[in-house]
Amino acid sequence: MMMDHGEGELLALLARLVAIDTPSGDRAGMMAAGEVLAAQLRKLGMELETIIDPAGGVHFKAEIGRGPKVVLLAHLDTVFPLGTAAERPFKIAGDSAYGPGVSDCKGGVVAVLGALRRLWADGWPAVRIICLFNGDEELGSPGSRFSLAEMAEEAVAVLVVEPAAGEELVTVSRQGIGRFTLRVCGKAAHSGSDYAKGRSAVLELAHKILAVHALTDLAAGVTLNVGAIGGGTRPNVVPDSAWAEIDLRVKEESQIGPILAALERIAAEKTVPETSATLSGGITRPPLPPKEANLRLFRSLEEVGRRLGIQLKPFCSGGGSDANLVAALGVPTLDGLGPAGGGHHSAAEFMSIPSLYRRVELLAEFLRALAGG
Ligand SMILES: [Zn+2]
Repeated sequence: MMMDHGEGELLALLARLVAIDTPSGDRAGMMAAGEVLAAQLRKLGMELETIIDPAGGVHFKAEIGRGPKVVLLAHLDTVFPLGTAAERPFKIAGDSAYGPGVSDCKGGVVAVLGALRRLWADGWPAVRIICLFNGDEELGSPGSRFSLAEMAEEAVAVLVVEPAAGEELVTVSRQGIGRFTLRVCGKAAHSGSDYAKGRSAVLELAHKILAVHALTDLAAGVTLNVGAIGGGTRPNVVPDSAWAEIDLRVKEESQIGPILAALERIAAEKTVPETSATLSGGITRPPLPPKEANLRLFRSLEEVGRRLGIQLKPFCSGGGSDANLVAALGVPTLDGLGPAGGGHHSAAEFMSIPSLYRRVELLAEFLRALAGG
């Protein structure tokens, strides 16, 4: 039923990208992945431009065509450390592909390449397509957000190819995200002879962690996760320092203020006397409520889907993405346009292979529809 548009080649490309470890901020990994992309784009008459942000982060941009501006966003970085691709290599089992970043977001990167390739083969539509492949999305896009905002300006659509939560789902709204670091200072002492003189930063942090988690309100869509901790030096020393990294998710803008105040209070209050704490960080992505501009864009995508025999449904995602940043600027944005997958940020990550082909088809046809020709 499916015409051959080089599906095998798309999977081979995905395998090559997954084989390259690209933890956020790793320049060598990004450059290697960029070389793979550049070679693919060159075949379509496109150039890959390297962007180095002020903090030294590496991102790539490619552009083609004239007409209404459409931005395709896909990130190349993953949450997995160097060595993961060798430890847990790309593999296919049944209809699914596995490997670090296979779905989040290398499947999306390949979907973009596949769609471009189709348009190239069938004739470019009258639309100006800008692709941004960033390397710091998993950090909250600290370095690429400026390029991103600049590119999104006056775009008729920003299409983010983060993984789809399901074959027929397109993300129209997302939770907001905050990242914080809590640092506790105490007083070091010999754990035997001077125990009473010590002020344990680790113990104080433990109390604070419980208080942070107690702010979670699942029903209201507010969650706090202390995802990484550290502190102390050795067992026989009362520890004078400890830290925790906190991830916050909120559904609505109005939930941010009270949570920030509560976090400040937790930092200030102490259970272990003579300890002190500082809280740093903030909101990295504002919540993306279902805006009218996004819903309108969804309805035109829905129409294209119908023509292809795909019944699309709008979806609210619990994760944040670059879509939050762009939509906050008032640009019509849709997200979750990559292939369907699951198990993200874990060893269980997978991508549905049939959905990769469906999304290539959908993206290509939508880009045509946006050309208005
Ligand atoms: Zn992602």
